[in-house]
This record gives sequence, C-alpha cells and structure tokens, in this order.
Amino acid sequence: MTVTTVRVPAKVNLQLGVGPVRDDGYHDLVNVFHAVSLFDEVTATPAATLTITVEGPAGVPVGPDNLAVRAARLLASHAGVEPRVALHIRKDIPVAGGMAGGSADAAAALVACDALWGTGMSRETLLELGARIGSDVPFALLGGTAVGLGRGERLTPVEAVGEFHWVFGYADGGLSTPAVYAECDRLRTDAPAAWPVVSDDLMAALKTGDPLALGRALTNDLQPAALSLRPSLAAALAAGVESGAVGSLVSGSGPTCAFLASSSAHAAALGKTLSGTGRFSAVRQARGPVSGAVLI
Ligand code: ATP
Repeated sequence: MTVTTVRVPAKVNLQLGVGPVRDDGYHDLVNVFHAVSLFDEVTATPAATLTITVEGPAGVPVGPDNLAVRAARLLASHAGVEPRVALHIRKDIPVAGGMAGGSADAAAALVACDALWGTGMSRETLLELGARIGSDVPFALLGGTAVGLGRGERLTPVEAVGEFHWVFGYADGGLSTPAVYAECDRLRTDAPAAWPVVSDDLMAALKTGDPLALGRALTNDLQPAALSLRPSLAAALAAGVESGAVGSLVSGSGPTCAFLASSSAHAAALGKTLSGTGRFSAVRQARGPVSGAVLI
C-alpha cells in the first residue's frame, strides 16, 4: 500500500464514575464511552524516517510526544520493522478538550501504519498496543458505545438502539486531564469517593434509544473539578439547558460542553441558539454512536 488514511472519532463520556485513587496513582473508573461524528484524519505515507505534521488547531506537539508518533514507534518495534512513515494529522477534534483527540490520533496511527507496513496485526494486538499508549486509545479503535472498566481500557460494547444527536460547545483553551483529576481529589479530601458502578438508568436509556431518558442519566464525576478550575463552564452548561437541551454535561475532563438534543432538527436549532450566546469558541453538531478508527 502506498498511502493510507484513517478517520477516527472523538468520544463523549455518557457516564464517568471516578473511584478512589489506587496505589499506582490512577483512579478506578466506570466509563461509558460513546463515539461521535467529530473526526480527525491521520494519513501515513512511505518516508525514509518518521516525521509528523499537523493541520488544524494549535497546541499539538509535532515531535516524539505526539501520541500518533508514539503509536507508530510502538507498532514498529512490536512488529520488528523500521518506523519509516510520514504521518499527517488533520485535526477537527478539540485539543485538550476532554474528547480524547490525542488518543484518537494514536488509534488512527496504529491502523494506518499497520496497513502501510503490511504488518497484519490482529484486532486484539492493536487493542493491547493501544492500551499501552493510553487508556482511551482502545475505545478509539472500537467506537460505538462501550463500558470501560479499570483505567477505562477494559472494554465491553453496549448495544445502543438508534442514533443520538448532540451539540458540542468548544471552549477557548484546554484543560489538563491530570490537573482535573488532581482537583477532583482535592475537592474530595473530606469525603472519599465511593466505588463507582455502571448506571442502570443509563443502560436502560441506551437500550430504548430514548433521548429524554439518556439526557436524565448523563453523569460525570469530573464535572465539579472542571467547573472549579473553569468557573465559566457553569454558565455555559446553563445556556444549554435554557436553550432546550434534553441533557448537558462537561465532556470527560472538559472544557468541551456536550448537549443532547431530541432529534437531528432539534440539534440544528439548539446549535444555532448556542452559537448566538457567544459562550463558546465554536459550536458543532454531531451524531453518535459511530464506528472507531477506519481506513478510508
Ligand atoms: P482526554 O479526553 O483523553 O483526557 P483530551 O481530549 O482532554 O484528552 P487531547 O486533545 O487528547 O486532550 O490532548 C491532551 C494533550 O496531549 C495535549 O495538550 C497535547 O499536549 C498532547 N498530545 C499529544 N499528541 C496529541 C495529538 N495527536 N493531538 C492532540 N494532543 C496531543
């Protein structure tokens, strides 16, 4: 193969339950991931050495720290080949926005390089390599809707009925995921967290495809910490509710706000109203679930 391009979706967490800190410093999570139709594209072209270029918003490293570069190197060393590839990322997923864009690019690079180099890795091997890069990477390979346990990487797909319609409000500037977890721990100093469990209400809503029930069941244990670090998010979320969203929450560690609509037409109207509030740097409509990283 000469050039391969992979399209990979962003995620929103329908439930993000954060347990107590473990001995290794990570938290045990109950994470219900949902892939939505905001996509990055990663193109892999044959080259003498590994290079990376990025098109889109600022703030993405263009060196060895880029998660797509780390993924390409890991696959090459696992497969025993030289990492000869020019990677190009077209970013549409917000950077440090709580939608796992960096993890998505890592997943896309694994699929793109595997096809380019003909290394023929199994799905299981790609999932395992992805988990070594970051706990959100396996879900970006899988897509759909899935429960992630442990650090989020032990995935079980969830059968969701139909399609849900979303509006995402982007913020100026990102939030650091480790900083949001640290703030979550700080806020809980006097009241240690209970062990999180998968929400029955959420699973029931996904099985019926009812957006009103899904809207009521959305939860994010990181939201108080994201609001504490970025107080303007409270008014941004309130704007969604006032504008008729059937559910609203901070996406992952934020600061992107996710608003659920009751239909595609409702999402279009909601998006228009939210654009007019001036509270977001950009407002985007999307649907979910969509599939994970795919060659295009
Ligand atoms: P998550 O939801 O998984 O916590 P996020 O969506 O908040 O992550 P990302 O956009 O994935 O945040 O990026 C977090 C940081 O990772 C960025 O600030 C950036 O320095 C670094 N990074 C490394 N590779 C990438 C990449 N390919 N795209 C975006 N950020 C990257």
